[in-house]
Amino acid sequence: MFEKVLIANRGEIALRIHRACREMGIRTVAVHSTADTDAMHVRLADEAVCIGPPQARDSYLNKAAILSAATITGADAIHPGYGFLSENADFAQMVEEHGMVFIGPSPDHIRLMGDKITAKQAAKAAGLPVVPGSEGSIDTIEQALENGEAIGYPVLIKATAGGGGKGMKVARNAEEMVEAWKMARNEAKAAFGNGDVYMEKYLGRPRHIEIQILADNYGSVVHLGERDCSLQRKHQKVLEEAPSPALNADQREKIGNTACSAIAKLGYRNAGTIEFLYENGEFYFIEMNTRLQVEHPITEAITGIDLVREQIRIAAGAPLGYTQSEVRFAGQAIECRINAEDPQTFVPCPGRIEGYHAPGGLGVRVDSGLYSGYRIPPHYDSMIAKLIVHGNSRNEALMRLRRALGEYVIEGVKTTLPLHNRLVQDSDFVNGDYDIHWLERFVERNN
Ligand code: ADP
Repeated sequence: MFEKVLIANRGEIALRIHRACREMGIRTVAVHSTADTDAMHVRLADEAVCIGPPQARDSYLNKAAILSAATITGADAIHPGYGFLSENADFAQMVEEHGMVFIGPSPDHIRLMGDKITAKQAAKAAGLPVVPGSEGSIDTIEQALENGEAIGYPVLIKATAGGGGKGMKVARNAEEMVEAWKMARNEAKAAFGNGDVYMEKYLGRPRHIEIQILADNYGSVVHLGERDCSLQRKHQKVLEEAPSPALNADQREKIGNTACSAIAKLGYRNAGTIEFLYENGEFYFIEMNTRLQVEHPITEAITGIDLVREQIRIAAGAPLGYTQSEVRFAGQAIECRINAEDPQTFVPCPGRIEGYHAPGGLGVRVDSGLYSGYRIPPHYDSMIAKLIVHGNSRNEALMRLRRALGEYVIEGVKTTLPLHNRLVQDSDFVNGDYDIHWLERFVERNN
């Protein structure tokens, strides 16, 4: 097992990784920008190295600074968390070239899944159902119009290098196509430095359902069930639950087995998530995330499996140690992402936390680096906490979530807690009756 792990991230996920390491007897190294000197994970880690100024490109995305910090402190492995360098194949390769272990899949798998066109081709070849769409990138307006006609409107134009819902545009007919194609390319170029786009059938009322998998270096693969992440705003997840209210045990087993067999065919290792859209009983692959997901705690709640611990064990060469039939699913888990944002306009609201009280009790987990007096820096993502509840039934989980939200106090900055408070009272949500567009309508209705 590793003796020392460097955590190449910040915020709640850096703390989450530190906690797993501590419980495994592994020493931790925090790296941080000058804006994060007072962060909780920096305080708790065994060692901390400042790697640069606030701007992420100069600190959390600064490969050389992170590798130097790892070398100086003698770390054996680097955990990248999510975001930042977690899906950067070059970084994973550099970590290996420096004689350390990247806690994640191989650089080749990261590269394959990082380009959405090659990812879709690989998924299809591995037996996963995909959304009907263009074969490759759409480089001319003529191609865009031809494909629009062939796929059938409405279509969605998506960035090959996409992430975080950026560079996505809907075209409802040929007239809209010209503008949508240009805008998607420009947005993709600005966000990812790569303007390549492709096209998919735009599904009208799907749910977003993703399968969590774990694979070791010796060919064993298990799935840990699904997460329903349909509640989104601007293609960003807001609240997630596991299991999905839309699936029964047979459907779960079927899609889980399909996912495992695809992962085995791909020779993938470590944790990963296969994302699908689900409509009229059919699954359609959209992408694979080759890293830990923000919403991983709901899977941990229903399976009792510590995903970060598993990632570290697998990276250290340990076998999975259990088979699919030994994975047990229990109860219902729900996660609310709490952002420092105006709950009406969603404008980020960084600042000082004047008062803080986190909820607790049976089945309640809060993953957050917040404390009273902490100053949320303005340079990073606005998610400041995740509230996760677990209950024996969905009803119990909902009652518990309402109770926990009611206890949560975050003073000094605006947060999205009021949005979650309203959401958990809504009858559609309570009935599990929602698709990926539902939350946008809910937000409009409540503004
Ligand atoms: P990103 O990597 O930018 O997050 P994804 O491919 O994962 O992009 O898609 C993000 C979200 O966009 C999905 O969860 C879904 O809400 C929506 N979406 C993606 N593809 C389609 C599609 N073909 N039809 C309708 N909605 C889609």
